Amino acid sequence: MSATAKYIFVTGGVTSSLGKGIISASLAKLLQARGYSVTIQKLDPYINVDPGTLNPYEHGECYVTDDGAETDLDLGHYERYLNIPTSQANNVTTGRIYQAVIDKERRGEYLGKTVQVIPHITDEIKERIQILGKSGNFDFVITEIGGTVGDIESLPYIESVRQLHWELGNNCMVIHLTLIPYLNAAGELKTKPTQHSVKALLELGLQPDVLVCRTEHQLNQGIRNKIAKFCNVASNAVIESIDADTIYDVPLLMLGEQLDKVVLNKLNLPGGPEPELTLWRNFLRKFKNPRSTVRIALVGKYIELKDSYKSIVEAFNHAGVSSEVKIDLKWIHSEKINEHNANELLGNVAGILVAPGFGSRGIEGKLSAIQYARENKIPFLGICLGMQCAVIEFSRNVLGLEDAHSTEINPDTPHPVIDLMNIQKKVTHKGGTMRLGAYPCNLMKGTMAHSIYNDEHISERHRHRYEYNNEYLPDFEKAGMLASGLNPDSGLVEIVEIPDHPWFIGVQFHPEYKSTVVSPHPLFVHFVKATVKVTEPVR
Ligand code: GLN
Repeated sequence: MSATAKYIFVTGGVTSSLGKGIISASLAKLLQARGYSVTIQKLDPYINVDPGTLNPYEHGECYVTDDGAETDLDLGHYERYLNIPTSQANNVTTGRIYQAVIDKERRGEYLGKTVQVIPHITDEIKERIQILGKSGNFDFVITEIGGTVGDIESLPYIESVRQLHWELGNNCMVIHLTLIPYLNAAGELKTKPTQHSVKALLELGLQPDVLVCRTEHQLNQGIRNKIAKFCNVASNAVIESIDADTIYDVPLLMLGEQLDKVVLNKLNLPGGPEPELTLWRNFLRKFKNPRSTVRIALVGKYIELKDSYKSIVEAFNHAGVSSEVKIDLKWIHSEKINEHNANELLGNVAGILVAPGFGSRGIEGKLSAIQYARENKIPFLGICLGMQCAVIEFSRNVLGLEDAHSTEINPDTPHPVIDLMNIQKKVTHKGGTMRLGAYPCNLMKGTMAHSIYNDEHISERHRHRYEYNNEYLPDFEKAGMLASGLNPDSGLVEIVEIPDHPWFIGVQFHPEYKSTVVSPHPLFVHFVKATVKVTEPVR
């Protein structure tokens, strides 16, 4: 690890959704595979202090770190690619920057000065960018700047990068991700939008060192030279990023384009040995050559926007590879399923996952899906709200507790089997006040959870307010639903399971956040294994 970290800024031009997160993570993977230590940070230009208060329809999944930060879903990609945890410092929003500056102003720390975007907001941004670099833990900090160059919101970030570029000199560089559209009518790739977005960056005082060009067609040398000439970059620094079959192809595509070498060269660092990517390549080979396919239902209420369940989908991809099967996810809207059509919708799946969520919409559908899984002995995994629903379903249909519910949905239920924790009852602010981040959990010997993790002590990440109500625990255990994982400090139930079922587990935490390419999550791995058993012979 070097004393001075190198800073790589990744900006985006022309349009959003070009995949800055995947390019950043892919570059990080290549540098890591060359033996460097790397972390990635996302700067988000919106005013929310964090994405925790955002509806998934707005922003996709909210990803949670070990230290309890509610963050952008790109941090999930960073962890899945690099297999190292991120933290609060890896995601900064405009809301958080302004909040910090205004707090300082209220404390009188600006000593009577007029507080302004430059220098106060930009200083705060620069400080946040350098926190990870100054920790001494990383050779590289890759900072992805959310939004598109030219947006009003991203101006203070670009200005901060301009200042830092001046201050850090050779220790920093800028990669600009842009689009090279193909015009069917002309039969040509067009470079003009890229020229314009680089011009916009130049007007703000930043010259990109590398251009990563998203394209649907290969870039020939002529186009590369043209882009290089118009945008003041070397032609080997014009990197093609062609549409890939899977996001996990991108590090290898970037390796083919020598993005890592261009970056190291620019920063005057030795290339050293070629990147060691054996595990990655093995994963990809299996991912692309599955032995068979298993169909698993994902029941949730945000399924119109698949990004709402990003980490769950990727955890299935990782677990599918460990069984060498392709997971064919059948997306089922929880508002569309009920006891009458459950057989029609779920009759041909080998496993059912009921997703996390908030609020009452779609709850009854989730309960129907769970009842179907329990009664028909179909492997079932319930995550967070999915686990809470499994408890509600069991209490209604096995314990006979009519109208049992979570007090989140029905505050007046006669049987609050899921209830608010006492400390949550006093909470009035919504932002950052859930039970968040990593908590320890002890697993009971002899249970399925214990054999899956092959461990007695685990740690998993949480994001919820409501909890299993322990008053009902003895009744549940007598009727066949065990609490197989407990928080050692509070006694809160973190895992439930039904031993008299081939595979029925509900977890109060989010295992999907911890699944990575090289370390798939054991719960997903074993759940998929159970579905493979159901699938062969084909259902
Ligand atoms: N709404 C539930 C709670 O707050 C579950 C949250 C979740 O699924 N992440 O407890």
